[in-house]
Amino acid sequence: MSVKPDAPEKPAPAGAGSPFPRVLLKLSGESLMGDREYGVDTRTVAAIAREVLDVRNTGTEVAIVVGGGNFYRGMAAAADGMDRATADYAGMLATLLNALALQDALEKLGAQTRVQSAIAVSEVAEPYIRRRAIRHLEKGRVVLFAAGTGNPFFTTDTAAALRALEIGAEAILMAKNGVKGVYDGDPRTEAGAQFIPEISHLEAIERGLRVMDTTALSLCMDNGVPIYVFELADRNIVRVASGDRIGTIVTTPKEA
Ligand code: UDP
Repeated sequence: MSVKPDAPEKPAPAGAGSPFPRVLLKLSGESLMGDREYGVDTRTVAAIAREVLDVRNTGTEVAIVVGGGNFYRGMAAAADGMDRATADYAGMLATLLNALALQDALEKLGAQTRVQSAIAVSEVAEPYIRRRAIRHLEKGRVVLFAAGTGNPFFTTDTAAALRALEIGAEAILMAKNGVKGVYDGDPRTEAGAQFIPEISHLEAIERGLRVMDTTALSLCMDNGVPIYVFELADRNIVRVASGDRIGTIVTTPKEA
């Protein structure tokens, strides 16, 4: 294995070909599974990495929060009788496995990357340091945030909202598995579920729509961060990052 030197590739200046100078991409653990029942599918991860690098090469700075549900979910383990906080810590460690898989795939394609973990794992990843993360992004590196928020009883959706705010991302790109955006029901089980192209944060919370969990949504609402929800397919990460109008936009119009 080789570790990439620091400056082989010069990305375009920040925001050059994109409406967003900096984005936070949220990938669920499931999105890395491909057709497998759990774990990581190498080809799927490679395809996602290709898209991320393509976005980066348009000049958009990309940070990623990756979930861990393909390996472990704290809530499920707690339902089986495990102590919830312990189970959640295990869940956070699962996100680290995914971050490393994605880092590897990105570096194989020539990207510069850093993994920053909210739980200390100094042999494999940097600790999360906000200013340092921003500096990495400015230098064109893709930053992968692992271990969620570092706290049990939270989710990686909340980590995505929190990190997006901390690094000043203009948008959260929320890639979903098998659904094209936000619906008023579950399109996988309810035939009549209606697609919602645009909705406010507040309405999404009040109607209990499954965009992200409520903690994450209210954090985005309070701080005016728009969320672009779209299906992880058809090079949609690149399309959304370049301003194509696909999926659902969750936003709160600014008061005049
Ligand atoms: N988790 C946590 N705190 C966090 C983020 C995640 O305790 O800040 C744990 C929680 O147990 C969760 C697991 O890590 O079930 C995996 O994260 P998540 O379910 O959000 O992953 P995804 O659904 O995106 O794959």
